[in-house]
Amino acid sequence: MSFASLGLIDPLLRNVRDVNYQTPTPVQAKAIPAVLSGKDVMASAQTGTGKTAGFALPLLQRLVQHGPAVSSNRARVLVLVPTRELAEQVLQSFLEYGKGLDLRFLAAYGGVSINPQMMKLRKGVDVLVATPGRLLDLHRQNAVQFDQVQTLVLDEADRMLDLGFARELNAVFAALPAQRQTLLFSATFTDDIRAMAAGILRGPVNISV
Ligand code: AMP
Repeated sequence: MSFASLGLIDPLLRNVRDVNYQTPTPVQAKAIPAVLSGKDVMASAQTGTGKTAGFALPLLQRLVQHGPAVSSNRARVLVLVPTRELAEQVLQSFLEYGKGLDLRFLAAYGGVSINPQMMKLRKGVDVLVATPGRLLDLHRQNAVQFDQVQTLVLDEADRMLDLGFARELNAVFAALPAQRQTLLFSATFTDDIRAMAAGILRGPVNISV
Protein backbone atom coordinates (compact mmCIF):
# COMPACT_ATOMS: atom_id res chain seq x y z
CA MET A 1 0.00 0.00 0.00
CA SER A 2 1.40 3.39 -1.01
CA PHE A 3 0.16 6.97 -0.84
CA ALA A 4 0.25 7.08 -4.66
CA SER A 5 -2.10 4.09 -4.90
CA LEU A 6 -4.66 6.00 -2.79
CA GLY A 7 -5.01 8.53 -5.60
CA LEU A 8 -2.99 11.43 -4.25
CA ILE A 9 -1.43 13.78 -6.81
CA ASP A 10 2.28 14.55 -7.18
CA PRO A 11 2.56 17.77 -5.17
CA LEU A 12 1.00 16.02 -2.18
CA LEU A 13 3.12 12.89 -2.63
CA ARG A 14 6.18 15.14 -2.62
CA ASN A 15 5.11 16.72 0.68
CA VAL A 16 4.40 13.28 2.15
CA ARG A 17 7.92 12.22 1.17
CA ASP A 18 9.31 15.38 2.76
CA VAL A 19 7.79 14.42 6.13
CA ASN A 20 9.17 10.88 5.70
CA TYR A 21 5.93 8.91 5.74
CA GLN A 22 6.57 5.61 3.95
CA THR A 23 3.16 3.93 4.06
CA PRO A 24 -0.32 5.12 4.94
CA THR A 25 -1.61 4.24 8.40
CA PRO A 26 -4.86 2.18 8.51
CA VAL A 27 -7.06 5.24 9.03
CA GLN A 28 -5.32 7.01 6.14
CA ALA A 29 -5.75 4.01 3.84
CA LYS A 30 -9.50 4.10 4.44
CA ALA A 31 -10.15 7.82 4.84
CA ILE A 32 -8.11 9.22 1.94
CA PRO A 33 -10.07 7.52 -0.90
CA ALA A 34 -13.41 8.21 0.84
CA VAL A 35 -12.66 11.90 1.34
CA LEU A 36 -11.30 12.26 -2.20
CA SER A 37 -14.56 10.88 -3.56
CA GLY A 38 -16.52 13.54 -1.68
CA LYS A 39 -18.24 11.18 0.72
CA ASP A 40 -19.06 11.87 4.36
CA VAL A 41 -16.95 9.96 6.88
CA MET A 42 -17.48 8.85 10.45
CA ALA A 43 -14.20 7.60 11.91
CA SER A 44 -13.31 6.32 15.32
CA ALA A 45 -9.65 7.19 15.57
CA GLN A 46 -7.51 8.32 18.48
CA THR A 47 -4.66 10.79 18.39
CA GLY A 48 -1.54 9.05 17.10
CA THR A 49 -3.32 7.09 14.38
CA GLY A 50 -2.43 9.60 11.67
CA LYS A 51 -6.01 10.86 11.39
CA THR A 52 -4.90 14.43 10.66
CA ALA A 53 -3.18 13.47 7.41
CA GLY A 54 -6.16 11.18 6.78
CA PHE A 55 -8.37 14.22 6.27
CA ALA A 56 -5.85 16.98 5.45
CA LEU A 57 -4.20 15.31 2.43
CA PRO A 58 -7.40 14.52 0.50
CA LEU A 59 -9.01 17.86 1.40
CA LEU A 60 -5.94 19.71 0.12
CA GLN A 61 -6.22 17.75 -3.11
CA ARG A 62 -9.90 18.65 -3.49
CA LEU A 63 -9.09 22.31 -2.90
CA VAL A 64 -6.40 22.22 -5.58
CA GLN A 65 -8.48 20.28 -8.12
CA HIS A 66 -12.07 21.40 -7.78
CA GLY A 67 -12.75 24.40 -5.68
CA PRO A 68 -13.39 27.94 -6.83
CA ALA A 69 -10.96 30.56 -5.62
CA VAL A 70 -11.76 31.67 -2.10
CA SER A 71 -13.04 35.19 -1.66
CA SER A 72 -12.95 37.79 1.07
CA ASN A 73 -14.23 36.78 4.53
CA ARG A 74 -14.84 33.23 3.46
CA ALA A 75 -13.40 29.76 3.99
CA ARG A 76 -13.74 26.61 1.90
CA VAL A 77 -12.76 23.99 4.48
CA LEU A 78 -13.71 24.37 8.13
CA VAL A 79 -12.01 22.21 10.77
CA LEU A 80 -13.51 22.41 14.26
CA VAL A 81 -11.28 21.37 17.15
CA PRO A 82 -11.74 21.42 20.94
CA THR A 83 -8.62 23.35 22.00
CA ARG A 84 -6.18 25.97 20.84
CA GLU A 85 -3.33 23.47 21.15
CA LEU A 86 -5.03 21.12 18.73
CA ALA A 87 -5.86 24.06 16.45
CA GLU A 88 -2.16 24.92 16.23
CA GLN A 89 -1.20 21.27 15.65
CA VAL A 90 -3.74 20.82 12.87
CA LEU A 91 -2.66 24.11 11.31
CA GLN A 92 0.96 22.91 11.31
CA SER A 93 -0.11 19.69 9.60
CA PHE A 94 -1.95 21.62 6.86
CA LEU A 95 1.10 23.88 6.41
CA GLU A 96 3.39 20.86 6.00
CA TYR A 97 1.13 18.77 3.79
CA GLY A 98 0.01 21.82 1.80
CA LYS A 99 3.45 23.31 1.15
CA GLY A 100 3.78 24.92 -2.28
CA LEU A 101 0.07 24.63 -3.13
CA ASP A 102 -0.70 28.35 -2.96
CA LEU A 103 -3.47 27.87 -0.41
CA ARG A 104 -4.15 29.97 2.69
CA PHE A 105 -4.54 28.56 6.19
CA LEU A 106 -5.60 30.09 9.49
CA ALA A 107 -6.03 28.84 13.05
CA ALA A 108 -8.55 30.89 15.07
CA TYR A 109 -9.18 30.32 18.77
CA GLY A 110 -10.17 32.25 21.84
CA GLY A 111 -7.93 33.71 24.52
CA VAL A 112 -6.01 35.83 22.02
CA SER A 113 -6.90 39.03 20.19
CA ILE A 114 -9.55 38.57 17.51
CA ASN A 115 -8.27 41.38 15.26
CA PRO A 116 -5.36 39.60 13.54
CA GLN A 117 -7.71 36.69 12.82
CA MET A 118 -10.22 39.10 11.28
CA MET A 119 -7.53 40.71 9.14
CA LYS A 120 -6.42 37.36 7.75
CA LEU A 121 -10.00 36.34 7.07
CA ARG A 122 -10.56 39.55 5.13
CA LYS A 123 -8.26 38.19 2.42
CA GLY A 124 -10.03 34.83 2.49
CA VAL A 125 -8.66 31.51 3.73
CA ASP A 126 -8.92 28.11 2.10
CA VAL A 127 -8.72 26.18 5.38
CA LEU A 128 -9.93 27.63 8.66
CA VAL A 129 -9.10 25.59 11.77
CA ALA A 130 -11.08 26.92 14.72
CA THR A 131 -12.47 26.31 18.16
CA PRO A 132 -16.28 26.55 18.17
CA GLY A 133 -16.68 29.63 20.39
CA ARG A 134 -14.23 31.82 18.50
CA LEU A 135 -15.62 30.67 15.17
CA LEU A 136 -19.09 31.85 16.21
CA ASP A 137 -17.68 35.18 17.44
CA LEU A 138 -16.05 35.69 14.05
CA HIS A 139 -19.23 34.71 12.25
CA ARG A 140 -21.40 37.05 14.35
CA GLN A 141 -19.06 39.91 13.51
CA ASN A 142 -19.27 39.06 9.79
CA ALA A 143 -15.55 38.30 9.71
CA VAL A 144 -16.34 34.91 8.19
CA GLN A 145 -19.28 33.79 6.09
CA PHE A 146 -20.05 30.16 5.45
CA ASP A 147 -21.58 30.15 1.96
CA GLN A 148 -18.39 28.78 0.34
CA VAL A 149 -17.76 26.01 2.90
CA GLN A 150 -17.52 22.75 0.97
CA THR A 151 -16.26 20.53 3.80
CA LEU A 152 -16.76 20.55 7.56
CA VAL A 153 -14.39 18.46 9.71
CA LEU A 154 -15.11 17.73 13.36
CA ASP A 155 -11.84 16.66 14.94
CA GLU A 156 -12.01 15.03 18.39
CA ALA A 157 -15.78 15.45 18.42
CA ASP A 158 -16.09 13.66 21.76
CA ARG A 159 -13.76 16.16 23.44
CA MET A 160 -15.76 19.05 21.99
CA LEU A 161 -18.90 17.66 23.60
CA ASP A 162 -17.03 16.97 26.88
CA LEU A 163 -15.93 20.61 26.94
CA GLY A 164 -19.53 21.77 26.60
CA PHE A 165 -19.48 22.93 22.97
CA ALA A 166 -22.75 21.23 21.93
CA ARG A 167 -24.67 24.50 21.60
CA GLU A 168 -21.93 26.18 19.63
CA LEU A 169 -21.62 23.18 17.34
CA ASN A 170 -25.35 23.17 16.65
CA ALA A 171 -25.25 26.89 15.86
CA VAL A 172 -22.42 26.28 13.37
CA PHE A 173 -24.22 23.33 11.73
CA ALA A 174 -27.34 25.47 11.29
CA ALA A 175 -25.37 28.25 9.59
CA LEU A 176 -23.48 26.03 7.10
CA PRO A 177 -24.64 25.15 3.58
CA ALA A 178 -26.75 21.98 3.72
CA GLN A 179 -24.96 20.76 0.59
CA ARG A 180 -21.49 19.96 1.89
CA GLN A 181 -19.13 17.16 2.86
CA THR A 182 -18.89 16.37 6.58
CA LEU A 183 -16.16 14.34 8.31
CA LEU A 184 -16.49 13.34 11.96
CA PHE A 185 -13.52 12.02 13.92
CA SER A 186 -13.91 10.86 17.50
CA ALA A 187 -11.99 8.60 19.85
CA THR A 188 -15.21 7.29 21.40
CA PHE A 189 -18.72 6.80 20.08
CA THR A 190 -21.16 7.62 22.84
CA ASP A 191 -24.90 8.05 22.31
CA ASP A 192 -24.38 11.82 22.14
CA ILE A 193 -21.85 11.49 19.34
CA ARG A 194 -24.06 9.05 17.46
CA ALA A 195 -27.02 11.41 17.75
CA MET A 196 -24.94 14.30 16.46
CA ALA A 197 -23.60 12.15 13.63
CA ALA A 198 -27.11 11.10 12.63
CA GLY A 199 -28.08 14.76 12.34
CA ILE A 200 -25.18 15.92 10.18
CA LEU A 201 -23.81 12.96 8.17
CA ARG A 202 -25.35 11.64 4.95
CA GLY A 203 -24.54 8.06 4.02
CA PRO A 204 -21.16 8.17 5.73
CA VAL A 205 -18.30 5.76 5.17
CA ASN A 206 -17.69 4.21 8.58
CA ILE A 207 -14.08 3.76 9.58
CA SER A 208 -12.84 2.22 12.76
CA VAL A 209 -9.20 1.53 13.47
P1 AMP B 1 -2.20 12.25 14.35
O1 AMP B 1 -2.89 11.00 14.79
O2 AMP B 1 -2.79 12.84 13.12
O3 AMP B 1 -2.07 13.25 15.45
O4 AMP B 1 -0.69 11.84 13.91
C1 AMP B 1 0.19 11.24 14.84
C2 AMP B 1 1.64 11.28 14.37
O5 AMP B 1 1.88 10.34 13.35
C3 AMP B 1 2.09 12.61 13.83
O6 AMP B 1 3.31 12.95 14.46
C4 AMP B 1 2.33 12.37 12.37
O7 AMP B 1 3.38 13.15 11.88
C5 AMP B 1 2.63 10.91 12.29
N1 AMP B 1 2.19 10.25 11.04
C6 AMP B 1 1.01 10.45 10.40
N2 AMP B 1 0.90 9.65 9.33
C7 AMP B 1 2.04 8.92 9.26
C8 AMP B 1 2.53 7.91 8.35
N3 AMP B 1 1.79 7.50 7.31
N4 AMP B 1 3.75 7.38 8.59
C9 AMP B 1 4.47 7.79 9.66
N5 AMP B 1 4.07 8.74 10.56
C10 AMP B 1 2.87 9.31 10.37
